[in-house]
Amino acid sequence: MQKYREIGLKLTPQRLAILEYLDGNTSHPSAEDIYREVKKRFPTMSFATVYNTLEVLRKRGNLLELTIDPERKRYDPNTSPHHHLICLRCKKIVDVHVDYRIDLPQKERESFEVFGNHIEFYGICNNCKQKGGVMNGSV
Ligand SMILES: [Zn+2]
Ligand SMILES: [Zn+2]
Repeated sequence: MQKYREIGLKLTPQRLAILEYLDGNTSHPSAEDIYREVKKRFPTMSFATVYNTLEVLRKRGNLLELTIDPERKRYDPNTSPHHHLICLRCKKIVDVHVDYRIDLPQKERESFEVFGNHIEFYGICNNCKQKGGVMNGSV
């Protein structure tokens, strides 16, 4: 929680509940997931409060916004460089902590200075695989 105080975010009890939910969370929740969880403790919580808090955190670099799930934006409080693997069926996202060395050839990166990369892997998780119909076209 200390890091959030340092960034000068005004901590209302509702915002604190959002931060607590995100702290160490590796499930890559959507704004809707966060709203649903935190509303259990704060029934008067509005979706706008959740969304605005996420935006503040994102702009300050304390939260990553992932676009790997085409249906909903997902959030990641772990801002250190890592990659992601998504299950195409249940949309579960897991972290991939492998440091891939990818050098962009000079002619591809033009005059850019490249800071990093983010690789999106996709497949079917074990849970979904056991439910059968691995690749029936309706992932
Ligand atoms: Zn799955
Ligand atoms: Zn992640």
